[in-house]
This record gives sequence, structure tokens and C-alpha cells, in this order.
Amino acid sequence: MYLSGLQIRHFRNLAEQQLDLPAEGVAIVGENAQGKTNLLEAIYYLETFRSFRGSRDDRLVAFGEDFFRVVGSLDGSAPEDRVEVAAAFQNRGKRKKITLDGEEPARLGDGLGRLAAVVFSPADVALISNGPGARRRFLDIVLSLNVPGYLGILQRFRHILSQRNAALRDGRGRGTVEVWDEGLTESGAWVMEARLQWVERWRGEFSSYYQRVSGAREGQLEYQPGLKLGGARDREEIVEAFRVALLEARDREGRLGNTVVGPQRDDLLLSVTEEEAPRDLREYGSGGQRRTAALALRLVEVATIREARRQEPIILMDDVFAELDPGRSERILSLMEEEETGQVLLTVPKESDIRLRRDSLPRWQIRGGELYW
Ligand code: ATP
Ligand code: MG
Repeated sequence: MYLSGLQIRHFRNLAEQQLDLPAEGVAIVGENAQGKTNLLEAIYYLETFRSFRGSRDDRLVAFGEDFFRVVGSLDGSAPEDRVEVAAAFQNRGKRKKITLDGEEPARLGDGLGRLAAVVFSPADVALISNGPGARRRFLDIVLSLNVPGYLGILQRFRHILSQRNAALRDGRGRGTVEVWDEGLTESGAWVMEARLQWVERWRGEFSSYYQRVSGAREGQLEYQPGLKLGGARDREEIVEAFRVALLEARDREGRLGNTVVGPQRDDLLLSVTEEEAPRDLREYGSGGQRRTAALALRLVEVATIREARRQEPIILMDDVFAELDPGRSERILSLMEEEETGQVLLTVPKESDIRLRRDSLPRWQIRGGELYW
């Protein structure tokens, strides 16, 4: 699957334009503040209907305009790959509208993930450096897009959790708290099992990507559950462990007015082995080590899409070599070539920085939000 056409109106600083994109991709060269990241943001918007930079929708509307609209034409070898995904947002009324081939899906969720893409960005280092919330959000996005049912159950879990927390906060009796426990442990265990299975499935690949980019050390990825799992592995065992953990936490949660165990406390543990001891990258990683770990997570995201959706995701690389040493950059490039990635949209600030696919990608320029080729 690849993006064959893109139509843009009033999205940030991007000029109103209609682009035909080559199946292999394109390298976009432009100086700072010309719209490189904005272009990738507009494309990725068609996958999740949100900004990958975490911006609110109204911030995406070009200054002085009332709406934006982005339309992507997806193409592929199979006829069912062909679809037109459109997303529009209007400031007045805060209305978001998604269509697939012109039809509005019953729920916004039904349109999610029609376009398959992964963004690589220097800002990804926040996946390692920021708090656990950033890693849970990464997990939730990857799993929502690739594990059927995950998003619905996650929303159910969050709803129950907030009800239960409200009951705890108000200091209502134990009874009004415990009515939520069955739903909480059932939905929470589902979420935890999915996260656990995802980590188990991909930890080996994570290590190997880490090693291939760093050229030496091996990185590890582990699931760090927000409750004592003991040996619990499958859903029923996790439900049981969750129940026990809630019992043990009764006094503490009463005092704090908050549910203190569960997947809302999950984290991903990322480490490298140094002098025979595992070092937590979240705490001790150097800049380059963190960027490498973030990159390995993105490569795992690519592999997840490839396996779960049987599609080659579009690679959106935003200035990724900016802060890596030349060795790492070279290894990433050759890794991308070996992985037989599909369409690649790459942004770079200077001509000399593009070496992907032995310079075979067509080069476009971007100036003042407008593309030239
Ligand atoms: P860099 O190389 O520095 O990362 P870039 O080419 O990626 O630059 P973008 O992040 O795409 O630059 O942003 C380009 C410009 O878009 C900025 O000057 C910014 O002010 C402008 N911009 C951001 N939001 C809007 C908006 N809603 N309307 C109009 N312009 C906007
Ligand atoms: Mg940028």
C-alpha cells in the first residue's frame, strides 16, 4: 500500500495543493520552518486523525482560516487496497469529519488505520526520556491500530477506572468502590495481556534492531506491569492477580483516593547491558543510546504493522539523522534497505543529507509550505 495522491487545504502553513506521490517515495529538502514536519503531520493525520506532535486540531488549521482538509489516495497491488481517506476539521463547532471513499464510517474508530504509516522523528527520544505515560501512549497507539478490540476495551477500562477513582475520592463506602472491581479487573487484565503479549512477541526484534543500529551493544525491552503479576500470564491469571493486588492496596488507595494498581501504572523497561549489568536507559541512557532505543521501538512498530495488517507501512522520516553520529546514520540506512521497506517520505534540511536507497529517491523542494519538483 502506498500514498499515490495527497490533497491539502489550510493545513498549518502548507499551501493549497494536490500532489502525486511516487510509489517508492520522495526525499523532501527544505530549510527550517518551511513545512517539512507539517507535511508529514498532515499525512499521518490520515492514520489516527490526530496530530503525531500532540497538537490540538484547532492548531492545525492555517492561521486566519476556519477549517483544514486533507485527502489521501491509497493505492496498492490489491483492489481492496485502493481507498480515498479524507479528514477535515472545522473550528466553528469543533467538527471533525472522516470519510472513506466519500462515506462517513459509523464510528470514527472504523476509519482508523486505513492508511498505515510510522513516523520517525527526533522528538521520539521523549519515548525514552519522558515519564511512563509517554510509553503507555506509544503502546496504546500501536495496539489500538494493530490488535482488534484493543481500543474498545481500553476505553471501557478507562471509563470504569475514572468511576472507581471518583468513588474513592468522594470517600464513599467500600461498597460503592467495589461495584467497579469486576469490570476493572476484567478489562484491565485484557489490556495487560495484550501489552504483555506484544512485548513478548517483539522483544527479540527490539534487541536485534538496537544492536544493528548501535553497532555493538544489545538493548532490552521488557514489560513492567502496574501490579504484581507473579507468574500470571494469561487473562484469567491476570484477573486473579489484579484482584489480589486490589485487596492488598485497599488501605493505600483509601488514603490516596486513587486506584494505585493496574495497567494505568504500566511501563516499558528499556535497558542496555554494560559491564555485565543492565542499565536502565530511562535513567542512565546517553542521548545517542536513547535515540537508538526510540528508533528500535519505531522499527518494531513497522514490523508490528507488517505482521498484523499484512501491509508495508509508509515510512515518514522527519530529519532523523539530525542528531545521530555518521556510523549510526549509515547503519539505519542500510537496515532500511535490507528490510525492504515500502514507500519512504524523508525530510532533510540539506541536499547532502540524503543517501537513502543509494540516492534513488526523487528529490523535491519545499519552500513556504509549497512543494517543487
Ligand atoms: P524544521 O526544519 O525547523 O523542523 P519544518 O520545515 O519541519 O522546520 P514545520 O514544523 O513544518 O517546519 O513548520 C513550518 C511553519 O509552520 C512554522 O513557521 C510555523 O510557524 C508554521 N505553522 C505552524 N502552525 C501553523 C498554522 N496553524 N498556520 C500557519 N502556519 C503554521
Ligand atoms: Mg521539522
